[in-house]
Amino acid sequence: MKPTSVVTLLIIFGGIAFGQTPATPVDSHIAAARTAAELDYRATFVNLCLPSAPRGGGAGPTGRGATGTPPTPDRATWYAPPFKVFDNLYWLGTRQHSSWALQTSAGLIIIDTNFAWATGPEIIEGLNTLGLNPSDIKYVIISHAHGDHDQGAAELQKRYGAQVVMGAPDWDATLARPATAPGGVPKRDVAVGPEGRRLTLGDTTIEIVATPGHTPGTLSYVFPVKDRGRTLMVAYSGGTLTGAFGTDAARWDEYIASQRKIAKVAADARASVIISNHSEYDGAYTKARLIAAPRQPGEDHPFVVGTDSVQRYFTVMAECATASKLRVGAQ
Ligand SMILES: [Zn+2]
Repeated sequence: MKPTSVVTLLIIFGGIAFGQTPATPVDSHIAAARTAAELDYRATFVNLCLPSAPRGGGAGPTGRGATGTPPTPDRATWYAPPFKVFDNLYWLGTRQHSSWALQTSAGLIIIDTNFAWATGPEIIEGLNTLGLNPSDIKYVIISHAHGDHDQGAAELQKRYGAQVVMGAPDWDATLARPATAPGGVPKRDVAVGPEGRRLTLGDTTIEIVATPGHTPGTLSYVFPVKDRGRTLMVAYSGGTLTGAFGTDAARWDEYIASQRKIAKVAADARASVIISNHSEYDGAYTKARLIAAPRQPGEDHPFVVGTDSVQRYFTVMAECATASKLRVGAQ
């Protein structure tokens, strides 16, 4: 008998003799998420699927939520220069958090801001560096009201008259902040309800999809960009972590339903680009720097992952949330 056959028999008999631990439903959902993540979405998989210290209810590791004035971290730990990523989409992020400028025929739409200390060096100076005019900002769309994405909204509204767009429940949370909150408090402009809406500026329309879960008013988007004149559709995931959900089954269910909803809108639009608001999840900082590299024959734009990969991203989110809900015993 060959050694391999011995091993095979041992495995078979071992299984029969001692029984194999059947995969639990939690294991099955984690396995589905791992399969969907492949090597593309490891951080999203790890942060959402693997139990660890609670994360995700607040404003992130360097945020303090609505109150208190966090010190500006050492610039050497976060500063990144701006990049033109598509013909009409510009990255204005720090190494950790993304902010974007979508250029239309009638002005700019800023998608997510960042901490208040990043508004000047990243958004305003970033636009100037790229040859864009901050005075052209017409809308600031906030994916959700956590400090790492929304603290720049009030300043852009005040300085340039930009209209701030947010999910209705997140407006309620924002307007409850004290005036001394970092970055200030924007005045209520456009509130998006559970039905979502389309927002058109000039030649560009953004499909805004209400995806409650990470926060009650989290918004995700699908919108067109151009790569060397070719139109591509982007799916933008507006909120990721679930660490603060506890045993609130309704909140888990809402989050899971939201992932299916945005996945469907993305599929219908044939979205082939996935963007998050954290580089940890979408590799935006790394990919933005790759834009300048010459493309090899057959190589696509660094942000183009394909329609299947976009769907896999949302599968990771939904499957991890389902596993986590079961693990914490939410019913
Ligand atoms: Zn958040």
